[in-house]
Amino acid sequence: MIDLRSDTVTKPTEEMRMAAYKAEVGDDVYGEDPSVNELEATAAEILGKEEALFVTSGTQGNQIAVLTHCRPGNEIILESESHIFYYESGAVSALAGVQTRTLPGNRGAMSAEDVLHSIRPEDQHYPETGLICIENTHNRAGGAVIPLENMKQIYEIAKSHHVPVHTDGARLFNAAEGSGLPITHFTQYTDTVQICLSKGLGAPAGSILAGNSETISAARKWRKRLGGGLRQAGIIAAPGLVALTRMRNRLAEDHIHAKQLAEGIREMKGLRVVNEIDTNIVVVDVSETSLTPAEFVDKLKTEGVLAVGFGRNAVRFTTHYDVASNDIERALRKIQAAVK
Ligand SMILES: *Cc1c(COP(=O)(O)O)cnc(C)c1O
Repeated sequence: MIDLRSDTVTKPTEEMRMAAYKAEVGDDVYGEDPSVNELEATAAEILGKEEALFVTSGTQGNQIAVLTHCRPGNEIILESESHIFYYESGAVSALAGVQTRTLPGNRGAMSAEDVLHSIRPEDQHYPETGLICIENTHNRAGGAVIPLENMKQIYEIAKSHHVPVHTDGARLFNAAEGSGLPITHFTQYTDTVQICLSKGLGAPAGSILAGNSETISAARKWRKRLGGGLRQAGIIAAPGLVALTRMRNRLAEDHIHAKQLAEGIREMKGLRVVNEIDTNIVVVDVSETSLTPAEFVDKLKTEGVLAVGFGRNAVRFTTHYDVASNDIERALRKIQAAVK
């Protein structure tokens, strides 16, 4: 089976398993887990932020950011198909008590002008704008890189209105690799950033939330409130550190594989690649096969390829560490067989 459902399906490498085995640990709620402390310090440095916090998942990192930046009754501005809006079970309203102001994106990027006009002026009728969220790369836009210039414009507008910015950077390292820019170029234009260790970087679990010291102290408390204060968490932080320090450079391979996959699919009748391939995601419209995405996914599965339905007409393929170049060639033959 060639599993292209998500870059979350990677299994930990030998080196990660060894790191877990050998990890020095302590009680992280007391701040005494050396492996967690090393991961957090390293992440803060790589991301160019004062401090970082190891959290259980990307969703937890994003929600802690919203909880930390906002108060109940605030409004947050975010892109209409962003993960925080689309895929986090309504947590921003269920947990943080904020309402959402969604703006349509162009390949996942909100226009700076739309953001500017969505920030609420002071008026007793209005909620206060508590946070602006950016997602880079943008998942539902097919792994699109949000341009640095767009982040800069939004950040400057946010600063001039005293509104914080959070970046859901689950795949921000893919954005850095895809654009050829250092990650700190992106993180300079956000107050907090969440990055997933468990996607393209291949760690078994965990994410990082980074920002200034004051924000991360408050975030630490929210993590505890949410039940995310773990004890000998070094067991999972140690493989996370391997992911963070050893796996970034290999993301380029995933991007090459995604381009290979898209090129092959473009030659197949009935299938249409709908996104430009910036990074590791390929979105394919299957409507001309007269199969629904769910039917197409089932048929692919019988051929030995796993993908996921992605909206009304499309399926998504995601490349990752556990698929090699020859797997892409095999996958293409199987996809071809499924559309025959
Ligand atoms: C996967 C993902 C998340 C959430 O990460 P989990 O670890 O699955 O909770 C958040 N944002 C984006 C853009 C993602 O792709």
